[in-house]
Amino acid sequence: MSDTPVRDLTALPKAHLHIHHEAAIRATTLAEMGAAEGVDVSVPEEFDDFSAFSQTYRGMLQVLSIKENLFRLIDESIEDCAREGIVYAEFGASPHFYVDTFGSTELALDAMIARAREAGERWGVEVGYMVTVDRTESVETATAYAKIAAAYAGRGVVSLGLANDERGHPAEQFHEAFAIAKEAGLLSTPHAGELAGPEQVEKAVDALQADRILHGVTAIESDALTARLAAEGICLDVCPTSNLLLGVIPEIDAHPLKQLLDAGVRCSINADDPVLFGPGLLSEYELCRSVLRLTDEEIAACALSSIECSGASDAVKQKAVAGIAAWLA
Ligand SMILES: [Zn+2]
Repeated sequence: MSDTPVRDLTALPKAHLHIHHEAAIRATTLAEMGAAEGVDVSVPEEFDDFSAFSQTYRGMLQVLSIKENLFRLIDESIEDCAREGIVYAEFGASPHFYVDTFGSTELALDAMIARAREAGERWGVEVGYMVTVDRTESVETATAYAKIAAAYAGRGVVSLGLANDERGHPAEQFHEAFAIAKEAGLLSTPHAGELAGPEQVEKAVDALQADRILHGVTAIESDALTARLAAEGICLDVCPTSNLLLGVIPEIDAHPLKQLLDAGVRCSINADDPVLFGPGLLSEYELCRSVLRLTDEEIAACALSSIECSGASDAVKQKAVAGIAAWLA
């Protein structure tokens, strides 16, 4: 028996890098908004497939298209970050969802960035937006969003994402959009290797110049790719509970996070869509400790990767890196 006190995971400075902003809404707030607007926002008991998940998301967008509701989401989600020890959040956002609300994609982005900055200053949380392209939309649309994201580099947008079902919508067709983002200094942060195999992770690295891969867990099926991710320092933003509920892994014990870390791959821990899947980021960290058996050194390494591989400012990074070292000391 050891009497070493258990380190408090709340006190560990961390970044949340794979978090779809709408799904960071509190369950109670969402239920309240749904009731007020007469919109069904009920969360399915289980997600048989990706389409059940997408359907719920559409109901959420409907209530959040009301400006006050969107602002409440931003305020509360940033307050929740502070409570979980998140010093930087890179929210995946789709400002084009709110064109009718604000008048244009740019005006929506302006409003979101300003509101997030205000709430961030109040709670001591830095926010960077990841403009997220829906891969089921056209290549032309993706390129148009990339140009908007690029125009906001250095003033609120830090990365370009690519979400939705990989199957039938391969990464490589969006190479132009990501070239525009990289040219502007944004990070390339596509989803890959969730519902498709390691070949899509490789395409995200080669065709989209990925700095981080959201999910990327199927990379473990290829030793060569795993070694390459480790050598190139490409971070995987993994989400254990999401992977379980969407059937990416058969059971939680089968999650490859520890194997990936053992192979030297940088990984961050994330919640993906907490209002749909249940756990917030702190609970995911707890799960990594208690179920996936990560040591505190491994947990701290994940937190360090989340900070170092993020779009956070240098000042936030420096302070967090020191805080992580102090947590482990
Ligand atoms: Zn995601």
